[in-house]
Amino acid sequence: MSSQLHQHATTRRRDPDATGKFLGSAPTLLGAQGLFKSYRKGNHVVPVLKGVDFDVRSGEFVAIVGQSGSGKSTLLHLLGTLDAPDQGEVRFEGNRIDHLRSTSRELLRNRDFGMIFQFYHLLPELSTLENVLAPLMISQRVWQYVWAWRRNREQATRLLKLVGLGHRLTHRPRELSGGEMQRAAIARALISSPKVLLADEPTGNLDQETGQEILEILRTLNRQEGLTIVMVTHDNAIAAQADRIVRLVEGRVVQL
Ligand code: ADP
Ligand code: MG
Repeated sequence: MSSQLHQHATTRRRDPDATGKFLGSAPTLLGAQGLFKSYRKGNHVVPVLKGVDFDVRSGEFVAIVGQSGSGKSTLLHLLGTLDAPDQGEVRFEGNRIDHLRSTSRELLRNRDFGMIFQFYHLLPELSTLENVLAPLMISQRVWQYVWAWRRNREQATRLLKLVGLGHRLTHRPRELSGGEMQRAAIARALISSPKVLLADEPTGNLDQETGQEILEILRTLNRQEGLTIVMVTHDNAIAAQADRIVRLVEGRVVQL
């Protein structure tokens, strides 16, 4: 698989600087300023985020760690416009995205954001290939989809080969292992060539070895394709492999 990744990467690789990375002058791609978020539980208001400041540069691989219940998923959802903050701003490529209307948010998510989760959320009745194509079926108009059908299929197949699933194109999710389902979910997240991948505990449901394989795919996508990644994890060994780790403590981000 690594040779396929490598082969693919040579077409889009960017020149790293002397440190092997190219982040020094890279612009902020995604950022949050002064984020507050509370949830209401009955009569109680439970504050979760209490003034989060957080920036991700283009090309960076950042891990967000913190205890269970510390607000990691909440923060990732706000960054990905799946939910809106009570206060504060989220910016993508310099533009505010936290107060966009739902259609604009959906467009942004389809075009620029890829997301993966602890549970893979594959559609059980679709094949692996069809699952990867599903976001395009939703985001493209029918005529566009039909017109681009061959190219879409080629792109989905290429991505599945890239994550090492070239031999599982027609399998249904129930015929795949957990690691294979996460690989399919990664390919699906990449089908629209997103600028950032948001990953919520992507190894959380996998054994250590399989989790490490998934991490290596993410690492390679980041290094060789320049994909910006924000990954939430409670696993310190997984987090340690990112470029940078931030910790959520008492509703705020602490740089490690
Ligand atoms: P983490 O991902 O770090 O485990 P979460 O962001 O999922 O933490 O949750 C942070 C806190 O917010 C938890 O106490 C959780 O119970 C609460 N919470 C999360 N989502 C909701 C929701 N939709 N409604 C009410 N409470 C929520
Ligand atoms: Mg969580």
